[in-house]
Amino acid sequence: MRFSGLRVLREGLTGNRGWQAHWRDASPKDAYDVVIIGGGGHGLATAYYLAREHGITNVAVLEKGYLGGGNVGRNTTIVRANYFLPGNSEFYSHSLKLWEGLEQELNYNVMHSQRGQIVLFHSDGQRDAAIRRGNAMRNQGDDAELLSVARLKKVLPYLDYEQARFPIYGGLLQRRAGTARHDAVAWGYARGASERGVDLIQNCDVTGIDIEGGAVKGVQTSRGVIRAKKVAVIVAGRSSQVAAMAGMRLPIESHVLQAFVTEGLKPCIDHVVSFGMGHFYISQSDKGGLVFGGDLDMYASYAARGNLPLVEHVMEAGMTLMPMIGQAKVLRSWGGIMDMSPDGSPIIDKSPVEGLYLNCGWCYGGFKAVPGSGHCMAHLLATDRPHAAAARLRLDRFRTGRGLMDEEGTGAQHNLH
Ligand SMILES: Cc1cc2nc3c(=O)[nH]c(=O)nc-3n(C[C@H](O)[C@H](O)[C@H](O)COP(=O)(O)OP(=O)(O)OC[C@H]3O[C@@H](n4cnc5c(N)ncnc54)[C@H](O)[C@@H]3O)c2cc1C
Repeated sequence: MRFSGLRVLREGLTGNRGWQAHWRDASPKDAYDVVIIGGGGHGLATAYYLAREHGITNVAVLEKGYLGGGNVGRNTTIVRANYFLPGNSEFYSHSLKLWEGLEQELNYNVMHSQRGQIVLFHSDGQRDAAIRRGNAMRNQGDDAELLSVARLKKVLPYLDYEQARFPIYGGLLQRRAGTARHDAVAWGYARGASERGVDLIQNCDVTGIDIEGGAVKGVQTSRGVIRAKKVAVIVAGRSSQVAAMAGMRLPIESHVLQAFVTEGLKPCIDHVVSFGMGHFYISQSDKGGLVFGGDLDMYASYAARGNLPLVEHVMEAGMTLMPMIGQAKVLRSWGGIMDMSPDGSPIIDKSPVEGLYLNCGWCYGGFKAVPGSGHCMAHLLATDRPHAAAARLRLDRFRTGRGLMDEEGTGAQHNLH
C-alpha cells in the first residue's frame, strides 16, 4: 500500500475503506537468521535496513509489549546533529542525513520538521564553548550559526533576556535540527520491515538467551524457544537486564527521564529552544501543545514515571527562561527508562559472546539516532564490521578508558550520572 495525496483524497471520498494494516502481526517461527530483541525505534530500524540494504529478511523483531510502546513513543522528538567530539559528531551527522530522506525512503509521513534548534548561552565562557562547538559542527559538514542577542530578540521575542541570574548572551542555531512525530517513526520502519518479509512479533517477552560453547544459539521467550544464528539486544532502558541473561554486566545505568505537554495553544514557539544554564528544552508540537523536559530524576529506576522534585525543577527552569509559559496548563507528564552510559554516548558493537550484538547507551539522544543506529547496526550484523560512522562506538572503551567521548567535552563523568 503506497501513500500519496491522491490516495488520501480517494480514501476520503470512499469512506476510508481501502486502508490496510501497516504490518503483519506475525507468529514466531522456530528459527531465524537474525533475532532482534526490542521493537523500539532502533530495533525496527535495524530490521528495516537489514532487509533493505543487505537483503537479510529471515529476521524476527521480538517485542515484549507493543511496537513503539517504549521510549520511541515517549520522547520529546528532538532531532539534531550538534555534537562536539569525534565519535558522536560523525555518527549523528550520518543519522541526520538519513532523517532528511526518511519520509521518501519509507513512503511514510513522519512529520520531520527542520524548524531549527537554538541552544542559548549565558556567560562569556559559554559563548566560547558555543563557538568551539559550532566550529566542530561545521568541520563535520553540518550547519551552525552564532546568534547575537540582537538577532535572538527578533527570533525569540518571548524570552526573558534581562533576568539577573542568567542573562542571555546569545545562542547557537542549527537550522537543520528540529522535530519528528515519534510514533510515526516506529510505525514507518515497522511497515517497511514487515513488507520486506521481517516478522514483527508483539507480546513476546525474551526471558533467556541460549549460549553454547561461547556462541549464541537462540532465545527463550514467553512464546517459546526461538533459535537464531545472530541475536541483537536493542532494548534501551532494559539493556542491563537483557545482557545479564547472557551473563554480561554492561556499563549502563537505567534512569527515569520525564517529559511534559501543555494544552494546545496557537503557534508561539517556532524552534526547539534549549536553556544553557539548566537542563530545560522546549518546542511546540504540530497539535499546539508545548512539549518540554529537563534532566533525569537522578536515581536508577525501572519505573516509567518520575517524581515531583524534578517536576518542580523543570517548571522553574521554564519559568526562568520564558515567563509566558506560566499561563499554559500542563496536561500530561510521563517518564521513560533511559539507558545511560558513563560517557553519555552509545554502544553499537559485538559482545564477547559470538553471534550476540549490542546496541545501547542512548542516554538523552536516542530518538534522533534511530535512522543512523539502525543503519549502522544492520551493517554490523550483516558484515561483522562496524560501519564507518559508528566505528568509535565500541564497548571496550569503558574497560580500557581509551576512546571515551562525551557531548560537551567535559570528561567521562557526563552530567555525573
Ligand atoms: C522523556 C524522554 C524524552 C526524550 N527526548 C529525546 C529527544 O528529544 N531526542 C532524542 O534524540 N532522544 C530523546 N529521548 C531518548 C530516546 O527516546 C531513546 O534514547 C530511544 O527511544 C531509545 O531507543 P528505542 O527507541 O529503541 O527504545 P524503546 O522504544 O524503549 O525500545 C526498546 C524496546 O525493547 C523492549 N524490550 C525490553 N526488554 C525486552 C525483552 N526482555 N523482550 C522483548 N522486548 C523487550 C521494550 O518493551 C521496548 O519496546 C527521550 C527519552 C525520554 C524518556
